[in-house]
Amino acid sequence: GSTVGIIGGGQLGRMSAVAAAKLGYHVHLLSPEFPGPATEVAASVTIGAYDDPEALEDFASRCDVVTFEFENISARGLALLERHRPVRPAGEILRISQDRIAEKTRLSEIGVGLAPWRAVNGPADLAALETLGFPLILKTTRFGYDGKGQFRVRDAGELAALADLPYPLVAEKMIDFERELSVMVVRGLDGTVRCFDTVENRHRDGILDVTLAPARIMPGLARQAQDMAARIADALGLIGIMGVEMFHAADGTLLVNEIAPRPHNSGHWTMDACLVDQFEMHVRAVTGLPLPPARRHSDAVMHNLIGPEDMARVPAILATDGASLHLYGKNEARPGRKMGHVNTIFPRGALPGELALDVLLPPRA
Ligand code: ATP
Ligand code: MG
Ligand code: MG
Repeated sequence: GSTVGIIGGGQLGRMSAVAAAKLGYHVHLLSPEFPGPATEVAASVTIGAYDDPEALEDFASRCDVVTFEFENISARGLALLERHRPVRPAGEILRISQDRIAEKTRLSEIGVGLAPWRAVNGPADLAALETLGFPLILKTTRFGYDGKGQFRVRDAGELAALADLPYPLVAEKMIDFERELSVMVVRGLDGTVRCFDTVENRHRDGILDVTLAPARIMPGLARQAQDMAARIADALGLIGIMGVEMFHAADGTLLVNEIAPRPHNSGHWTMDACLVDQFEMHVRAVTGLPLPPARRHSDAVMHNLIGPEDMARVPAILATDGASLHLYGKNEARPGRKMGHVNTIFPRGALPGELALDVLLPPRA
């Protein structure tokens, strides 16, 4: 048999590994953490840091194709991997998604809409931000996730008061959005592109809280979001799956927030609402298998389970009819840590209205 190599020891690596095993592959993992969510389900593991050349070399030598859940592999590490094995998606795409300035530059070349933005390389660049307008948001260019490394700036006074920022940064105009949308797009070795349905995301404390599938928007807008995601995937020559986060702005336009060339939290609903979910689609793409249409057989609401407070709800969730529970096997439930998710499934077209969502699951304490 053939071996799929996955870089990353977290929940996305875990669920990718399960999907690869389902298709009969041997899964070899690179993880710095042992035991961890992904090592628990992989067939074999190289334990080592994501940038340790020896670990990368050992890992690559045991795989036929390399993919990842962990996006912050260094340029050197990527070059090393690409010398040994096919890396899918390609290292070039990772280099873009790792750096918000490279990402926005490439996305504007592709021609999709973005929030107005400026690179901020040092304090001297701050004054020019007044031309962007307020409120605005400053983001570290690298390593940010779950809203970490972000600073919101309401007015010129707050801007002038900023000190000791972790440059380089990107400044973005705050978008007055109607809702946040995302699309999971997958592109195969032969160039076939498939998009899962456009979904609607709600965040809580900067962390994804709920995904509604499908998004409750006009079909034309949902289609436009998918077309935008497909266009980015084609332009980047993507092999594998990618999450494209977007704002549906109050003026009706669609703006891309960021891309993630890997399985994505806002695609977890596919695990229970599609015959072939985002993880299997990803594995199929990187191993050169055919990609079936990304068909959704049910409507779904995905709730993330974050930290100890949500772990306390697990017994009640287990006793809830219609709720499919996924736990990541993390040893410790620290506040803000993603511990699992729950998919609640409805017949197509039966997604409940605004108020009913709050009563789908037993409430937080
Ligand atoms: P992720 O965990 O998705 O990788 P991240 O740390 O990379 O998150 P972003 O996705 O850029 O951060 O921002 C987190 C959230 O902050 C967004 O989903 C959105 O709710 C809000 N946000 C970010 N940028 C803007 C903006 N320009 N205008 C309005 N809201 C924004
Ligand atoms: Mg991000
Ligand atoms: Mg985001």
